[in-house]
Amino acid sequence: MPNISHNLTQIKRDIHKTTQSHALQQQAKLIAVSKRQPIAFILEAFEAGHRDFGENYAQELEQKATALADKAICWHFIGPIQSNKARIIAQYSHWVHSVDRLKVAQRLNDYRSAEQPPLNVCIQVNIDQEASKSGATIESLPALIKGIRALPRLVLKGLMVIPPKGRSTETFQQLAILAKEHSLKELSMGMSQDMVDALNAGSTMVRIGTAIFGERPK
Ligand SMILES: *Cc1c(COP(=O)(O)O)cnc(C)c1O
Repeated sequence: MPNISHNLTQIKRDIHKTTQSHALQQQAKLIAVSKRQPIAFILEAFEAGHRDFGENYAQELEQKATALADKAICWHFIGPIQSNKARIIAQYSHWVHSVDRLKVAQRLNDYRSAEQPPLNVCIQVNIDQEASKSGATIESLPALIKGIRALPRLVLKGLMVIPPKGRSTETFQQLAILAKEHSLKELSMGMSQDMVDALNAGSTMVRIGTAIFGERPK
């Protein structure tokens, strides 16, 4: 079993060390990506005081959020969204980082119940237009932003990216410029391998899995 509490402390220290050199930057939020990891690992991080967890698969989010319903966990959905899973995602998430088209945004809006606060969302951007990746193209971004801002049950917070191999620094910097152009505050970028790079480019939310929980089971 990985030493989850130790890993969390270490990563929070790294985040603090990196961001304190940026004059204006607030402390970035650490999202512990628990996809494919057991509930016992989430509980261990929770006992260590951690509250923000990231999941990639709608059904897995539903199972974990239901099992841990008595815990004050903030769930972040960060995986690709099939529109037929929008109901589950809208019900159990506090944040959705991976909105990439208006149809999905509209479904999330429609399924977000009136008893819940509006859902916080980020748009995932496919900056290098890689065919294999999900994410909105840069050209589609203005219309998508406008469309999401018109939806009453969603609050558009920022942009998210998964950089192509070997191009993380440039990609992070490009995302930061795009966010600024559209007055979006949150930048969801940085994983176990490129966290410091992302923080240096202005990340406000890093999504860290392996460095906290160890390798994921296949
Ligand atoms: C799995 C995943 C992460 C975490 O990746 P690690 O390399 O384990 O830190 C972050 N973001 C997304 C979108 C993921 O799918």
